[in-house]
Amino acid sequence: MKSAAIVSGLLFAVGVVWADDKSHWSYSGQTGPEHWGGLKPEFNLCGFGRNQTPINIEGMIEADLPAITFNYQAAGDEVINNGHTIQVNFGAGSNISVDGQQFELKQFHFHSPSENHIQGKSYALEGHLVHADKDGNLAVVAVMFEPGAANEVMEQAWKVMPEKAGGKSALGTKVSAEGLLPAQRDYYQFNGSLTTPPCSEGVRWLVMKEAMTASEAQIEHFSHVMHHPTNRPLQPVFARPVLQ
Ligand SMILES: [Zn+2]
Repeated sequence: MKSAAIVSGLLFAVGVVWADDKSHWSYSGQTGPEHWGGLKPEFNLCGFGRNQTPINIEGMIEADLPAITFNYQAAGDEVINNGHTIQVNFGAGSNISVDGQQFELKQFHFHSPSENHIQGKSYALEGHLVHADKDGNLAVVAVMFEPGAANEVMEQAWKVMPEKAGGKSALGTKVSAEGLLPAQRDYYQFNGSLTTPPCSEGVRWLVMKEAMTASEAQIEHFSHVMHHPTNRPLQPVFARPVLQ
C-alpha cells in the first residue's frame, strides 16, 4: 500500500510539473494554437497581435514590388528536429537584398500542410527561409510545395533527418537554399509575425507566387516524423494590405 501511494504521488508530481511547464506548446489540445497567447506572458502576441501569420493571401494590391536579389551559398550544414519542425541551419554567407536592405539566411524549415493559403488554396508543404538583418529584423521567404517531382535539397536533408525531437545531424554535403526557390521569383508581400510562439511581429513576409514540388514520399516522410500537422490556423488580416 505504502509503495503504491508513493508511486502515485510521484506520478502526480510529474503530471504537475508537466502542466506547469508553460513554455511547452503544441499544435493541438490544451497547449494548442488557440491557447498559445495564455501559456506565458511572452506569448501574448499569439493571442492579441493584429499582424499575425499565417493568412489567406487575397485581395492583393498592385505595388510594382522590387525584385529580390538572392545570393545563396552551399552553407547549410546541420539538420535539427526540434519537435515542431525539421530545420536546416546555415553558416554565414547567404543573403537576400530587397528594397536596399540586406538580410542573412539563418535557417530554413517546413510546415505541413501549408500555413499560409493563396487565394483560399492550402498546399501540401510550406518552406520558410528565415533571414535577419544586422539589427535582428526578420524577413521570411515562403515557398509552397505541391506533390510532384522530388526536391533535391530536401532529399539531402531528409537522408540525415533526425527521427526524434531534440535530434541533430550533420549534412554530408552542404546544401544551398537556392534549390528550394522556383524559377519565377514574383512574390506577395505582407507584414506579419513568427507563426510559432512567441509570435513576434514586424516580420517581413515574402511569399513566392510559383509553387515548387516535392515527392509524395518526401512529404509523407516529413509528416510521419512530425506525427501530426504542423500548421498554425489562419489568422485575421485586419487592416493589412497584401502587396504584389
Ligand atoms: Zn515556419
